[in-house]
Amino acid sequence: MKLDALFIASHPDDIEITSAGTAIKLVNDGKKVGIVDLTQGELSTRGNIKTRRTETANASKVMGIHYRTNLKLKDGNIQNTHANRLKLIKVLRETKPGIIFAPYPSDRHSDHVNASNFIRESAFLSGLQKIKTGNLEAYRPHKVFYYRHAYDFPISFIVDISDTYAKKMEAISCYASQFFKTKNISADEPETYISSKLFWKDLDTRARFFGFKIGVEFGEPFFCFEDLNIQATNLLKI
Ligand SMILES: [Zn+2]
Repeated sequence: MKLDALFIASHPDDIEITSAGTAIKLVNDGKKVGIVDLTQGELSTRGNIKTRRTETANASKVMGIHYRTNLKLKDGNIQNTHANRLKLIKVLRETKPGIIFAPYPSDRHSDHVNASNFIRESAFLSGLQKIKTGNLEAYRPHKVFYYRHAYDFPISFIVDISDTYAKKMEAISCYASQFFKTKNISADEPETYISSKLFWKDLDTRARFFGFKIGVEFGEPFFCFEDLNIQATNLLKI
């Protein structure tokens, strides 16, 4: 399937937290959108692979995305090896996304850092014809945009997600094992950073903060290493 945009994440739920508002906007705009989860999140303190798989399928339905796959790399040990890169290159060549999204290369979670470099390198190498993946043609996405996890970054642009924010939160809510939901608090599983009530409230605060910066209710920030070609007429809207 040919995709317009492909969001690539270390763990199932990363895209929902960081950039689902933008993904849903693209879907609403008639674009073909996909997600690649690099790992199954098997090291998560709460829940297990099976519950996580069901939650991921439900979240995908809420977002209305057209494609989702999991490369099943090792959670907590995402390695930028040739064999692993070939797995992602194969997906890029099969789906030919115009743009891809990756975690920003500086973060508190080492998986996010490793994934970032792994994705950027794979996206570049995917364009080299002499790297073979069966009969698939070489293909390089037009741009790599970086979404924000925990650490600040120099923002290149912010997407207004005011009209998709409710859907984004609905998608995040599908991960009942991971996040604070009064009715789903399980007494036999330890509270974690992301399952705390504080994290849930912070999601809202963050979206409002980045929305505030561009004069709207909710926003998601992105970074791009390259300069962006802005059409002059769009300057009237930004
Ligand atoms: Zn993650």
